[in-house]
Amino acid sequence: MKLTKPTREQVNAAVQAQLHGLLPTCPACGRTLAGHRWAILASDIAEPSTKERLKTLFGLFKAHEWAELSKTKQFDPAKNALEFFALLCNSGGVVSAVRNPFELLEPHELLAVETINSMESTEIERLVDDWQEFHA
Ligand SMILES: [Zn+2]
Repeated sequence: MKLTKPTREQVNAAVQAQLHGLLPTCPACGRTLAGHRWAILASDIAEPSTKERLKTLFGLFKAHEWAELSKTKQFDPAKNALEFFALLCNSGGVVSAVRNPFELLEPHELLAVETINSMESTEIERLVDDWQEFHA
């Protein structure tokens, strides 16, 4: 059986479905994620050898150091990943830390959520070029 690489649209649809399941409502505005814009703010490979790096990233996440956090964009499709998703709305939004296992059938795991205000969402908006919109 030949495995074809999923298209970007398929990947985005999968990510949306996962985030919908993990975050039924936005902690900033209390509404569903429909209409929010989202992007991957940062990501890194999650394995024993990157443990210290992940600790640093989590520290930046907890401290809301978004510019610093967004500098890390490591990804290897054959390895587990730690991904930081930004979801923006008029009230601000959230940044969520999600464990993304390389095994497709293993569920994503929501590790932590930080609620952000509208000043932070403006900052984050400038840090990422590639925004997608959530569909209901
Ligand atoms: Zn919201």
